[in-house]
This record gives sequence, structure tokens and C-alpha cells, in this order.
Amino acid sequence: MKALAKLHSEPGIWMTDAEMPEYGYNDLLIKIRKTAICGTDVHIYKWDEWSQKTIPVPMVVGHEYVGEVAAMGEGVRGFEKGDRVSGEGHITCGHCRNCRAGRRHLCRNTVGVGVNRPGAFAEYLVIPADNAFKLPDDITDEMAAIFDPFGNAVHTALAFDLVGEDVLITGAGPIGIMAAAVARHVGARHVVITDVNPYRLELAVKMGATRAVDVSKENLRDVMTELGMKEGFDVGLEMSGVPSAFRQMLDTINHGGKIAMLGIPPESVAIDWNQVIFKGLTIKGIYGREMFETWYKMASLLQSGLDLSPILTHQLPIDKFQEGFDIMCSGESGKVVLDWTS
Ligand code: NAD
Ligand code: ZN
Repeated sequence: MKALAKLHSEPGIWMTDAEMPEYGYNDLLIKIRKTAICGTDVHIYKWDEWSQKTIPVPMVVGHEYVGEVAAMGEGVRGFEKGDRVSGEGHITCGHCRNCRAGRRHLCRNTVGVGVNRPGAFAEYLVIPADNAFKLPDDITDEMAAIFDPFGNAVHTALAFDLVGEDVLITGAGPIGIMAAAVARHVGARHVVITDVNPYRLELAVKMGATRAVDVSKENLRDVMTELGMKEGFDVGLEMSGVPSAFRQMLDTINHGGKIAMLGIPPESVAIDWNQVIFKGLTIKGIYGREMFETWYKMASLLQSGLDLSPILTHQLPIDKFQEGFDIMCSGESGKVVLDWTS
């Protein structure tokens, strides 16, 4: 089958002819329709330090996808051939304490699709049926293909109550922008988003942020004054992984504020802990998506009118994958979706 793989230990990604994956007793074989390029795929493409340590070569990558069930193992219940599915990219162990308590997103033995095991950038993918999510008919293929990062946005944005609150989002990457849309949809008051990339800040406003701030040109405190915010933000969603952005959040959050942290800093970050202590802050780390609460909420948010379509900035046939990666690397994009059926 056709597959997009990391074939060499150097920057790049290559189309190859890979073995069809075999499915076991509890697995689904999924025929892929559309995939999206994640920031993680860009790290793997660029072959940075993390990828060199993590990704075995050769490896079919990718974990953002939509497809249809082509076949299944004998033990599978609840799915039929032809069902349209996306899937949770974190395969959990099922026997650790958190898995057994129903907190699968906190499994300590998580294995990543397209990171530690063959991924979705291929004509076919195998995952445990337990990891698949059956899609309602009214959700489009291209939207379903980005459920994985949309889930990061939803999991983070819904970590704390946002109704009537002033929210600061640091980082207007695709996930930060989707989080801004979710925050507005669920009733936040001001949703201020920061970045240093004008293209993305503009997209964030299109998707519901009430104010976008280019922190390389504007002072966040001036913006707070402009908005009449005398005390500070109630909730912070850190979605950049940039240390200075997190420090700015600690500076501008109100006493008693709550911070959900999704962004992954490249190395350890020093902060002024006095701000955490004397402001009485709550800081919560966010990893992945809740299985499957976040997935149900994603579907329901779309069905209740959340419009994420502007984030789908580029849709290309799979043969133009190189163009897709170039666009992602440029930073001038929302999500880039590749079509495997055209
Ligand atoms: P992204 O890299 O596209 O977005 C990060 C954004 O931060 C970029 O637009 C960048 O321009 C911006 N930025 C740079 N400097 C800034 C500054 N000083 N202030 C504010 N913003 C600044 O990433 P993404 O795909 O949207 O993901 C967001 C973050 O979440 C990344 O750090 C990613 O690694 C992380 N992530 C974590 C999980 C998890 O499970 N915890 C899952 C997916 C992604
Ligand atoms: Zn586990």
C-alpha cells in the first residue's frame, strides 16, 4: 500500500510502498480517507533532537485522520464495515491503575500512533477498536480529520469553567486558535490570544478571539487597560511552549487564577514561584484528550454550532504532500489536510 514514511535519518518524508498492516482479534482495519499534518509530524519531518531520540526508521508516521472500517478482528463489537471513524492516537495499556480506574488519558504506558507504532499516513491503518470513535453523519471528513488536535484544544479549554471569564491564550498555533473558538462558544467574555505570527493572529480573530496581540509589537498590559480589565485574566491556556509566554501569563493572571498547560517547552523553564504561591494559582498539565469524554464533547460542540471551518486553510491531494509540509513549515497556515482518495 501507499504510505508516507520516515525512511532515512535526515530531514524529509518519503512516499513508499509499505506492507499492509495486519489486524488482530480486537483491532479495526481502517481505510484512510483524509489525514492532517500535526506539529509533531513537522518535528519528525525536520528530524529534530526529539525525533532522532524517539522515532525508529523506517516508520509510517501521522495520527490525525478520518477513514472507514474496512475489516475487523473477531472480538470487535459495536462497529460495522463501512463505519466512518477517527481514532484516539494514544494507545493505552489497560492494566495500569489509571486505565483500570477509567482515566485512560493518564495511562503511564501510552504508545503513540505514528510515533511509536505505524501511523495513519497510509492507505490503511490498524488500531484497537477501543481507540476508534464513530463519527456522526453531519461532521465532514475534513473536520473529522483534525479531531486529534481539536481534542487537545477542547481538553485544555474545558479544564476550567470559562463562563463569563476573561481568558488569556498564549500561542495562536492551530490548537490555540481552536481553543479560542471553543472558549467563545462556551461563554467566555474576553478571549485574548498572543503570538508573534500576524497570519495566525488574524486567523484567531476570524475564529472568535476578541483581541489578538502580537507580543513582539504590543504590550499585553496596554491591551488589558484597553479592555477595561483592572485585575487580570481569570483563566490562562498555555499553548505555545514558549517560556516567555508562560511568564507573561503568570504576570497577568489574577489572584486565584487557573492555568491549563498544553504547550511543550523545549527544556526546563525557570519561573517566579512566588507568583504561583502568593496569587494562589492552580496549574494543571494537559496531555492528549480524555477518552472518550473529549471526543463526545467535540462532536457535540460542532453540532451545537461551533464553526471551525476557517482553521482548514489548505486541502491537497496526497500526491502534493511535499507542498503540504512546506506550507506547515512556513507557519502561514491553519491545518493542512491531505486527501488519500483523490
Ligand atoms: P504551534 O507550534 O503551531 O503553535 C505555537 C505558537 O506559539 C506558534 O504559532 C508560535 O508562533 C507561537 N509563539 C511563539 N512565540 C510566542 C510568544 N512569545 N508568545 C505567544 N506565542 C508565541 O503548535 P500547535 O500545534 O498549535 O500546538 C501548541 C502547543 O501544544 C505546542 O507546544 C505543542 O508541542 C503542544 N502540544 C501538546 C500536546 C499535549 O498533549 N500536551 C498535544 C499537542 C500539542
Ligand atoms: Zn495504562
